Amino acid sequence: MKKENSMDFTEEKEYFLSGKINEECGCFGLFNVADAASLSYFGLHALQHRGQEAAGIAASDGETIRTYKGKGLLTEVFNNDIIASLPGRYALGHVRYSKADANQIENAQPIMVRAHMGHFAVAHNGQIVNAPELKKELEDKGSIFQGVSDSELIAHLIQREEGTFVEKIIKACRRFEGAFAFVIMTKDCMYAIRDKNGLRPLAIATLPDGGYCISSETCAFDIVGATYLKDVEPGEVVRLAKDDVMKTFHYTEHTQKKMCAMEYIYFARPDSNIDGVNVHTARRISGRYLAKTEDVEGDIVIGVPDSSLSAAIGYSEESGLPYEIGLIKNRYVGRTFIQPTQKQRERGVRMKLSAVSSIVKGKRVFMIDDSIVRGTTSKRIVQLLKEAGATEVHVRIGSPALTHPCFYGVDTSTYDELISARLNEEEVRKYIGADSLRFLTIEQMKEAFGTDDLCTSCFNGQYCTSLYSYGTILEEEKKAHEQ
Ligand code: AMP
Ligand code: SF4
Repeated sequence: MKKENSMDFTEEKEYFLSGKINEECGCFGLFNVADAASLSYFGLHALQHRGQEAAGIAASDGETIRTYKGKGLLTEVFNNDIIASLPGRYALGHVRYSKADANQIENAQPIMVRAHMGHFAVAHNGQIVNAPELKKELEDKGSIFQGVSDSELIAHLIQREEGTFVEKIIKACRRFEGAFAFVIMTKDCMYAIRDKNGLRPLAIATLPDGGYCISSETCAFDIVGATYLKDVEPGEVVRLAKDDVMKTFHYTEHTQKKMCAMEYIYFARPDSNIDGVNVHTARRISGRYLAKTEDVEGDIVIGVPDSSLSAAIGYSEESGLPYEIGLIKNRYVGRTFIQPTQKQRERGVRMKLSAVSSIVKGKRVFMIDDSIVRGTTSKRIVQLLKEAGATEVHVRIGSPALTHPCFYGVDTSTYDELISARLNEEEVRKYIGADSLRFLTIEQMKEAFGTDDLCTSCFNGQYCTSLYSYGTILEEEKKAHEQ
């Protein structure tokens, strides 16, 4: 039976392909810890930068799983009474970023599944590229979907597979293509899973009095007093069970490490370590690489708060030019990009940053930013700096130019959105009004991050997985784009 508000396959495929569903989120799990929900609230705070549209926590007392989720920031969704209504030693939390149309409560996570084999909750980060095909298959077999989140798909597929719970998870994972890191909680077990390319981060830590913590980023470990144990490996399913027994399974032998380069460049907090690499250090060295090949003269170096400050420090160290605070961020405005519509984003940039005239007036400024997506932020900042009296603004970007859409859960899913897909470097420079513009090369980026194990698809169009229906739309877009 088709639900009243559900879409048929063609509509759903178009919906997916339009990039309206994207999941760059944060997952946080606590296993066998007193007041797990309350502690997971603090852990999720450390992941709030990964998503501000919705938040949720599922908690289990060993018998019953209770869930609460809502739209908005954690502080808007939860209060003491709500946390108190989620008792137990097991908790699974999630913060979600979504594009405008997918910002419905049905898509908030964790997803609660009331299955005959036992209830469970699912939270995930990433994007399954064959989701439209898998959903169609499941709907044909009678599954009914409430929202469009990949978590629901994971839940349905697990239910349909045969075997023990972990066998079901393993069989379901073998059917997924794309980027996913997910955490599943039953009434007394927890599972942490990462896709075979390791595109999205997920790590595990131990707690001082026993128990475990699972998080999209290691920065959330400190806040709950957890000690890092390991990153979940690509293709690995880690099971945490009674008496703190940790067991790992591998759903495939065909794995590679292709961590999303944008995690290092933009998403992750500087105090997080991903696959053994500290994010602040990676950014700082990328700033050094930008300065190594500098051929323009300037007076001061400034970074765009917050994600570009590490790269600006590196640039200043290498160039010998003073690092200055030339831009001030209004702390009470959220991340500009993580606003569903372009209008909100533009307003966001205006409200978010101010140039410090006493610092930049009469100066030739090197302005370091982490990336250019649509060009809105750089254009506005160059304008702000010039209005504040900077004589020249040289923009240096701590990433290669974003020339291809991402289908792995990051919100850049069409060529039209990417200014560097449409314009060459000189045209982008003109558009943003800078006196000069340089990007990091892919090679410099790899050297700066000290690893080859990176996804670089959005910089070179070499995708690490098959793209299924997205491949078709990509070809069509490419053709339209070349005309
Ligand atoms: P734009 O104004 O569209 O060029 O956005 C560029 C800014 O958005 C960068 O300075 C980053 O701080 C941030 N950013 C870059 N990539 C992403 C992304 N995929 N999702 C969210 N924010 C991003
Ligand atoms: Fe990250 Fe780019 Fe790969 Fe997407 S395509 S996963 S944004 S590196």
